[in-house]
Amino acid sequence: MNTVEGWEKKIRRVIPYVAGEQPKTEGVIKLNTNECPYPPGMGVKAALREFDYENLRLYPDMDAGALVDALATYYGVRPGQVFVGVGSDDVLALSFMAFFHGEKPILFPDITYSFYDVWAEVFRIPWETCPLDGEFRIRKEDYLRPNGGIIIPNPNAPTGIFEEISTLEEIVRANPDSVVIIDEAYVDFGGESMLPLLEKYGNLMVVQTFSKSRAMAGMRIGFAIGNEKLIGYLKDVKFSFNSYTMNMPALAAGVAAIKDDAYFKETVEKIIRTREWTKGQLARLGFHVTDSRSNFLFATHKEIPAAEIFQALKREQIYVRHWDRPRISNYLRITVGTDQQMEILVETLAKYIKEREYD
Ligand code: PMP
Repeated sequence: MNTVEGWEKKIRRVIPYVAGEQPKTEGVIKLNTNECPYPPGMGVKAALREFDYENLRLYPDMDAGALVDALATYYGVRPGQVFVGVGSDDVLALSFMAFFHGEKPILFPDITYSFYDVWAEVFRIPWETCPLDGEFRIRKEDYLRPNGGIIIPNPNAPTGIFEEISTLEEIVRANPDSVVIIDEAYVDFGGESMLPLLEKYGNLMVVQTFSKSRAMAGMRIGFAIGNEKLIGYLKDVKFSFNSYTMNMPALAAGVAAIKDDAYFKETVEKIIRTREWTKGQLARLGFHVTDSRSNFLFATHKEIPAAEIFQALKREQIYVRHWDRPRISNYLRITVGTDQQMEILVETLAKYIKEREYD
């Protein structure tokens, strides 16, 4: 089957993004896709229960007005500055299409969210990576050269490391001719948002998601905030592609989630506490763990290869993430679960490490 058919020569060939495994078996401890271990708040449950299914015969509001207004009020911006999409992946993909249309390569860190190069490839955008330093920190000088746009996650994934706002601000300021996207998927877990800088920089856009801190990965809601002109260009591309992306139940649930701020804060605080406890335990077991400001930990063991630990955990039905990629192949990314899940993880690791010593 190696023959290339004539029609195949006209195909847009891409190597797709590979998401974390979604095991179908029961009883698995799933710490591999940075989902929230807690359900969304009761307001979301009520909104879905009260949703009148008869409305489904109609198209949803293509401007997603209710959700856009709720987000604008929450973040203290004008509704025209807010764009919502089907998860931040949707928002980011459309942003790549809209903003990265220059001839020079776009720039992003060498260790980062592995969807960026996939979007660049699918949209035929030239790209180059900028190596993080030995501590996985951004070297801002790398971004002070001609480019077609910049995207940086803060905190970064999968390292969890938060970059000082002042460093990123310098990058934004030095690149008035490029759009700079800051992907803040994990910012609620102890980072600091670039949102307050939007008034100052027309070329800055911030992207966030409901998938992590708002416990709604299954609902697929993401959003971008930028100045009205920039967001206007993004909307033009979106409405040239698919007008009705946000479905009615997602809009209703999204509004309810934003209104329940107390639950949101409580959930985030719980995850941060569990993260710090787990970090201490992993250090005790001989891991080096980065200073994560996200809902995951990035850890490497001083003796045992990450690939081996990954398999050992999988045998015990604990799923974490491992990439066989340069510079990070000896690291594991572990999503912060409930206290109980993390206790099981720590016990399982301790047992494995002990038994291995006596082998
Ligand atoms: N950005 C980063 C850095 C991520 O890790 C993720 C989650 N895989 C996303 C964006 C996309 O998340 P979602 O589409 O669920 O909003």
